[in-house]
Amino acid sequence: MSQAGQIDGLQFAQERERRSGHLELEAFPRLAEFGCLAARVDYEIEGCSNAEGRLALRVTIDGVLELECQRCLGSLEHAAAVRNELELAVDPAFIESAEDDVDRVLATPNMEVSELIEDELILSLPMVPMHETCDLPAEAERSSPFAALAALKKGNSEG
Ligand SMILES: [Zn+2]
Repeated sequence: MSQAGQIDGLQFAQERERRSGHLELEAFPRLAEFGCLAARVDYEIEGCSNAEGRLALRVTIDGVLELECQRCLGSLEHAAAVRNELELAVDPAFIESAEDDVDRVLATPNMEVSELIEDELILSLPMVPMHETCDLPAEAERSSPFAALAALKKGNSEG
């Protein structure tokens, strides 16, 4: 069991319970597999009824994920800000077959809070994490083919 603990989904929603806390990367093994280098997030889960009157969990997450830029391989801070409502469903087949755009999660008596948070964080990840402008190391400029070409031309004109 993780540090965030478990909830009984339906009961938690019925009683409008609320749980909040802080989690870091060690709570998110799958996120680490996606190349996340560090995570610091504050979360809150609140039991509620959604617009259709069905029991749901309102999930709020704010924090920072450290990802690896796919261009320069430097670290890249990704702001995680999740506001989502997950309808509780008791039948996995219903979740599979539902064709609306309601987010659903399987309600069980022992839902891992950290896994719920991790699912939402994974969905919030950018497809290809990349800096808008990379801070390339200074050597890259010196060793670029253009710099070599310029040096060559300079040498020729002098000789
Ligand atoms: Zn970069």
